[in-house]
Amino acid sequence: MEPSLIVRLVPGREKKIRSRYPWVQRGEVREVEGGEGPGLCLLQSHDSAFLGIGTYNPESRFPVRVLTTEKEAIDEGFFARKFQQALALREGLRLDSNSRRLVYSEADEVPGLILDDLDGHLVAQVRSRGMEDLRELWLPALDDVFRPKSLYEKSDMAGRKEEGLESVVGQALGETPDEVEVVEQGIRYVGLPKSGLKTGFYLDQRAARIRLGQRVRPGDKVLDCFCSTGGFSLAAARSGGSVMGVDILGSALEAGEKAAVSQGWSVDWVEANAFDYLEDGAEGLGPFDWIILDPPAIAKTSEKRDSLKWAVWKLVYHAMPLLKPGGRLIVCSCSYQIGVRELLEASRLAANDQGRGLALEEVTYQDLDHPAPLHFPEALYLKCAWLRSV
Ligand code: SAH
Repeated sequence: MEPSLIVRLVPGREKKIRSRYPWVQRGEVREVEGGEGPGLCLLQSHDSAFLGIGTYNPESRFPVRVLTTEKEAIDEGFFARKFQQALALREGLRLDSNSRRLVYSEADEVPGLILDDLDGHLVAQVRSRGMEDLRELWLPALDDVFRPKSLYEKSDMAGRKEEGLESVVGQALGETPDEVEVVEQGIRYVGLPKSGLKTGFYLDQRAARIRLGQRVRPGDKVLDCFCSTGGFSLAAARSGGSVMGVDILGSALEAGEKAAVSQGWSVDWVEANAFDYLEDGAEGLGPFDWIILDPPAIAKTSEKRDSLKWAVWKLVYHAMPLLKPGGRLIVCSCSYQIGVRELLEASRLAANDQGRGLALEEVTYQDLDHPAPLHFPEALYLKCAWLRSV
């Protein structure tokens, strides 16, 4: 496909593109030649020097997303090469799982496309208008390179609206089962590619789950808040922990229960709002050796940063009285807007307000199949602070 548009940037903005940052904001566009868009565009500096090729969508908060900074054709072969590269990275990782994130959008140089592989069944999320319009190129390339058992599309994220796109949910290739077995280090989870949240399983927390499994000792009492289908819960149960998992979504808990029972583990699942549950004292079932707080991304934009910090404060504040002295608290943020610094600050303030202290033991991030290139800071979204009550 040939670029039909030329987008020129305001002076000074070429540097960030040459440094491989893939997004152009509205105020950075000086002029557009060749039509109104949306469409494929040649990206140029103010004095018409070549910067790259991208997709242009005037409706988007990021009107240009850069596909390449090379002079190359955007065709099926282009996507096939990107997918090969993404696959090669994953194959070198030795994740000890049958499932993985295969393509992580900008971090794999395919802006706007996420592909998760749940035991060979792929789940796609198309986030941008650009990727939506290039479907006829990347879909055959995907089929060719990954040879999936099936492909299900879950493009229902809120961000599509600001791209001028409706939700698209449904079967794209083959037939996807309602449930898929996700295996990590021998633990069997139930993934829900069609009915679950996002792509049906939170692959990103794999490293943290494995770490928890290594650290929990038999008999430890574990409270897993925002447990979803039981990622942390089952890892703790296998290590002999006595586990409670709390989530607001009953269908996720049912999947967790199914996986637990099939492996002979007993987990107490609680369908509740975790904020209220903690505030109400967790039915007096504490104190716990471990409390995990893994809330959804409340803040997508910098304006919401304060509300997420406040949410973290609230969770930690109500978790502290339920934690044994010397007990461990794992506080996670899956929003780019809240970094480790903010996470630690909110936790410190909450502990102080309860007359308690916390010490940092370690920090874990999204697992390695969710790459985090430094030139695109937004890719590093998930971090967990592992704290000990002191
Ligand atoms: N820890 C999980 C992933 C958590 S994702 C894992 O490792 O797999 C966030 C979860 O929070 C989702 O399952 C969602 O259903 C749940 N959730 C959202 N709001 C909630 C609330 N107020 N109380 C409890 N759970 C909530």
